[in-house]
Amino acid sequence: MSETYLRFANVFHAYKEGEGKLEILKGADLEIHGGELVALVAPSGAGKSTLLHIGGLLDRADSGEVEICGHNVTGMPDRARTMLRRSAIGFVYQFHHLLPEFTALENVAIPQLIAGVGRAEAETRALELLETLGIAPRASHRPSELSGGEQQRVAIARAAANAPQLILADEPTGNLDPSTSDLVFEALLGIIRTSGASALIVTHDHGLAKRADRVITLRAGKIEPISL
Ligand code: ADP
Ligand code: MG
Repeated sequence: MSETYLRFANVFHAYKEGEGKLEILKGADLEIHGGELVALVAPSGAGKSTLLHIGGLLDRADSGEVEICGHNVTGMPDRARTMLRRSAIGFVYQFHHLLPEFTALENVAIPQLIAGVGRAEAETRALELLETLGIAPRASHRPSELSGGEQQRVAIARAAANAPQLILADEPTGNLDPSTSDLVFEALLGIIRTSGASALIVTHDHGLAKRADRVITLRAGKIEPISL
């Protein structure tokens, strides 16, 4: 079996709600391996974004164990978590969150520059990624000059820029029409297949989810496999 890139064991997470607390994750268990694309389908409010934020080191679990690429991040200091997040994780949001004043190419190069890669090398890799995703001709355009599908493909290229082991995508096609969603999902699938990385993708689109290697859901705070 290939390496485990994301592991949750008995993870709990709650939010404060007035005097009490709103329990969202109640013993969530999950393992995602290299080369695997997993779709997460669950109703609004089930805790999908909470799960992704914990797995993406943007938030901490209340209890339980979280492992990224074999590193137990539960008690890890913030600085080490930030370093691991930059090297091992790529995040794609529903709304692209690209930097508006930079071109598509620069948006994909910047995370590499932050990681210490030289400008020429970063731009070469950025262009390769944009080519893989079929948007190289748009490389010199700013986000506002791109269509929604193009923006999301740039966001995917950016997430993949530092060759992370794990790509987390929170409703990346939630804002797109069906044929564009298809293109964007294929782009993600292509990146996973060619890089050997893994991905956890939240989607409401059952047609897309069916093309993942596995589909999971969140029910009463736990993760369960489902078949669509
Ligand atoms: P999903 O992504 O599945 O729609 P979320 O993980 O965003 O669900 O949220 C799960 C529940 O937790 C929702 O009821 C939401 O309102 C609540 N919630 C999310 N974030 C916070 C927060 N920072 N503070 C309080 N409640 C929150
Ligand atoms: Mg959400």
